[in-house]
Order: sequence, then structure tokens, then C-alpha cells
Amino acid sequence: MLNIVLFGPPGAGKGTQSEKIIEKYGLTHISTGDLFRKHLGEGTELGKMAKSFMDAGNLVPDEVVIGMVDDKIKSTADSAGFIFDGFPRTVPQAEALDKLLTDKGHPISGMIALEVPEEELKKRIKERAKTSGRVDDQDEAKIDNRIRVYQEETMPVANYYQEQRKFSPIHGVGSIDEIFMAISAVMDAY
Ligand code: AMP
Repeated sequence: MLNIVLFGPPGAGKGTQSEKIIEKYGLTHISTGDLFRKHLGEGTELGKMAKSFMDAGNLVPDEVVIGMVDDKIKSTADSAGFIFDGFPRTVPQAEALDKLLTDKGHPISGMIALEVPEEELKKRIKERAKTSGRVDDQDEAKIDNRIRVYQEETMPVANYYQEQRKFSPIHGVGSIDEIFMAISAVMDAY
């Protein structure tokens, strides 16, 4: 079983690369951002609760995110593995994920981190805003806040996997296929 954390700041290309990884490796995609947006669209209690955090570009509380991921893992039968996209975003989330997967006997194989300079991230998010319909893509202050939250709350998660020798950085600028080739090389070595 291959369990991958795809890591990187907002706009790094996690969603785009996830699609290619799923297609090639047959993994189950768990994007917490997508799951929250689905709840939002369906007007569930969870969605209503997450909305204010998401609209402002802040993190939804850990226990809510962890519970949602736990449900998703449990409801997925016979997967070749998972690709976690946008999760874990805090060290307590990483610790909870380790526990969930160790209980299943299949720990995280590795973290693949897409590294993209801040100016490029902002450019990509503004481009995505034209079609994404996402409130949090729309204005400069929200984008800046998401990048700040990433630096302050999420970056420590990279150290968490580095300490476990499970960290692989990838240069996230270039064509989609070039970046995917670099990701595939890392995945094929797991
Ligand atoms: P994303 O699509 O990954 O950029 O996530 C969009 C928004 O959903 C984030 O800005 C957060 O408000 C929320 N979110 C997604 N994943 C997480 C997570 N792992 N922990 C906390 N909040 C999250």
C-alpha cells in the first residue's frame, strides 16, 4: 500500500498533480479542501461550520478535519493507497494521521513537497480565481493570509516528516508533465 502526503503552499499545483498521480498509481484521493467544499455545497452542518474559516483563509480546527479524514478512510474499501492533498496542515493533524494509518498497518510512505516561489503562487491563484469560483481565491488579502497561515502553521509539518526521513522536495516550477516526471521518480523508489 502506497500512502503519500502531497505537500505545498496554496497554488503549488497539488490538485493538478494529484489527478495525474491517481491516474497512474490508482490511489484514492483525499483532499480535505475538496471534501469541505463538497460539504459547503451540500449545506451540511460540517460545511456551515467550516465556511467562515475557509472564506477567511484560516484553518478549520484540527478535530473537525481529523474526524472527516477518519470517516473518509474508513468508508474507503480495498484501496491501493491514499494520496493526502492539503492534509495534514498542522503537526497535531500529522500525528493523528500516523495513528490512523498505523492502526491499519500501513504508515505514510513519504511526503512529496512541491516548492514554488511566493510570487509564482500568487500569480497562479489569481489565474485560478477566474474559473475556480472560490471565495478564498478572490482577493489579495485572503491570498496573503493563506500563504502566511501556510508558513506559520503548516511548514512545521515538513520537519515532522523530515525527522522520519520521509521528506522529498520537488521543484514545482515548469511544465505539468516535467513536474509529474519528478514526482513519479520519487514514487517509483518507494
Ligand atoms: P485547499 O483547497 O486545500 O486550499 O483548502 C481550502 C481551505 O479549506 C483552507 O484554506 C482551510 O480553510 C480549509 N482546509 C483544507 N484542508 C485543511 C486542513 N487540513 N486543516 C485545516 N483546514 C483545512
